[in-house]
Amino acid sequence: MKAAVFYAPGDVRVENIDIPKIGPGELLVQIKAATTCGTDVKAYRRGHRLFHPPTPLGHEWAGVVVQVGEGVTRFRVGDRVAGANSAPCGRCYYCKVGQPQLCDDLLIMFGSFAEYLQVPARIVEVNTFKLPDHLSFAAAAMIEPLACAVNGIMESGIRLGDTVAVNGAGPIGLYFVRLAALRGARVIVTDLSDMRLEVAASLGAAEVINVSRLPDAVRAVRDLTEDGRGVDVAIEAVGLPDTWEKTILMARKGGTVNLFGGPKEGTTFTTPTGLVHYNQLTLKGVFHLTPDTARMAFDLLANGQVSERPFISGVQPLSQVVEALEAHARQEVVKYAIVPD
Ligand SMILES: [Zn+2]
Ligand SMILES: [Zn+2]
Repeated sequence: MKAAVFYAPGDVRVENIDIPKIGPGELLVQIKAATTCGTDVKAYRRGHRLFHPPTPLGHEWAGVVVQVGEGVTRFRVGDRVAGANSAPCGRCYYCKVGQPQLCDDLLIMFGSFAEYLQVPARIVEVNTFKLPDHLSFAAAAMIEPLACAVNGIMESGIRLGDTVAVNGAGPIGLYFVRLAALRGARVIVTDLSDMRLEVAASLGAAEVINVSRLPDAVRAVRDLTEDGRGVDVAIEAVGLPDTWEKTILMARKGGTVNLFGGPKEGTTFTTPTGLVHYNQLTLKGVFHLTPDTARMAFDLLANGQVSERPFISGVQPLSQVVEALEAHARQEVVKYAIVPD
């Protein structure tokens, strides 16, 4: 089969490799859509701490079951399926205390930029969904990133009528925009790209700010709140320490700051201690997804509350996956759906 293989930063090749042989409890899925994601772009450009090259690339996926491992009862050959790319162990301390995203033995799967994907038993059991006929493969491939944003929204404590700032209008930021609007918030979005800000507005953002033209993002956001007091919830969906610091400065007294974007390993950020103390800020790091938020993401997509448009900017064949990742990196698109040629 054809598959995208990561060799080194900047070196991804579409090659012929063997179709995986599945074991008990596993599925072999013929990929129908695999969406590009900021994580793929970061991995392509600078490598990934979980990658030991050569390693398959792509982690958002949807397709048709073509082989069912021994003992699988929930799925059959021909089923349309999609799911997350990870599953917690269910046994460790964090799984038991209800924080499965922090599982000590989180199983993570890569390899969806390929013709076939071997889905490990644990992911089949916990985080794989049978798709209703009306749900497209491209939409269903978004379960994983949407589930991460759902996790972030659940941790943000948004109340009806709140003003929420979302910094960064990449795919994750745009999911936050949609979900915060669904939660009844007035959403202010900052980004550098007019194209992405237009998408944000179409998803329900009340105010969009292009910070390439208004560089004092903190001031611009605060000016859009009553008496400049700041927003109830400030979300960072970029992954830069500088943006983390600015996001914190946007929150009102007693506000919540969700530092969602994952910065480069080893970086640090600086925040005035007095601000956190006297303004009684809640600063949160939020990571990944849980089986619960994966289920919620699936429901949001199946119910049409989050649709593939405008997140999927286009379709690219697997042979063009490198070009697709480059275009994603240049922020020319929100996401691409990669389909086998
Ligand atoms: Zn992703
Ligand atoms: Zn665990």
